[in-house]
Amino acid sequence: MVIIMNIDATEKDISEVVHTVEETGLQAKIMEGAQQKIVGVIGDKTKLASVAIGAMNGVENIVAISKNYKLASREFHPQSTVIDIDGVKIGGAEPVIMAGPCAVESREQLLMTAEIVKKGGAQFLRGGAYKPRTSPYSFQGLEVEGLKYLAEAREKTGLKIITEVTTVEGIAPVAEYADIMQIGARNMQNFGLLKEVGKCGKPVMLKRGLSATIDEWLNAAEYIMNAGTPDVILCERGIRTYETYTRNTLDLSAVAAVKHLSHLPIIVDPSHGTGKWRMIKPMALAAIAAGADGLMMEVHPNPAKAMSDGSQSLTGEHYLDLMEGVRKLSKFIRDENLVPLVA
Ligand code: PEP
Ligand code: MN
Repeated sequence: MVIIMNIDATEKDISEVVHTVEETGLQAKIMEGAQQKIVGVIGDKTKLASVAIGAMNGVENIVAISKNYKLASREFHPQSTVIDIDGVKIGGAEPVIMAGPCAVESREQLLMTAEIVKKGGAQFLRGGAYKPRTSPYSFQGLEVEGLKYLAEAREKTGLKIITEVTTVEGIAPVAEYADIMQIGARNMQNFGLLKEVGKCGKPVMLKRGLSATIDEWLNAAEYIMNAGTPDVILCERGIRTYETYTRNTLDLSAVAAVKHLSHLPIIVDPSHGTGKWRMIKPMALAAIAAGADGLMMEVHPNPAKAMSDGSQSLTGEHYLDLMEGVRKLSKFIRDENLVPLVA
């Protein structure tokens, strides 16, 4: 990190800044700019967390050089992480597919969807038992009953389960049934929840917040990793922009950015990313071409009757067609050695 001093900072201001930095055990080096002096700080800058350098006399600006996040950063972990969940590798050569309804609505709906999801070749069944809905009057999920249907579907199909946890109290019941704990976009910066879910011993998929920058998202991943679990999967699910045609703006450039900045695997969710079932296939294929490690998609046996997110859910037929496309594209990328290189 560097501390940029004002043009009119005095020698006394500069030596006080240097003294304050050195008092924390860090090294300070004064650099002469054309007009301004700069104090370079060498060492672990978290030691400066309790010191308000920015408020000291003569300080113009502070610029971070290395990232705030360390555990999630590729800088400190150059090798891409592959998360092995009972033989299913997330971040490996093959894209991992997570598909299923937005919400677990009934036993019949879930088991029917699970059969379709399995037939298409996905490895994970998704479905919310605890739903973070915009309106308190909307369907909130079947809770533990929903988790039991997910477990039954796993039993019947061999699919693994990913499902959302929305509260600290929900961690224990969800961890009892889920193979991956999902943290939804609305909870990406619920730091209390992140710290607790990081202690539960299960892999966590962290969706990008509604308007989160990539830096905020990776810092949120850092919270989970710092709490204990190294197995964090990121999920790009679109962000808010001024565009209103789509529900969100799916930021596929985040895939390339995350691959550069972090060693963690990244999944793309074109259902929430667009809000429109017609856009799921093109965006899913684009995500794979961009280097995503997998996809999360909503599938419903009868989207018109879905209790949530029917307009962004694929029918069985459309899902099977999409999976055919994903298989062909992945094979082409592999055969032609087109897998985007990590820079
Ligand atoms: C979900 O995947 O069920 C969900 C609610 O998505 P998001 O958190 O991305 O809105
Ligand atoms: Mn949904």
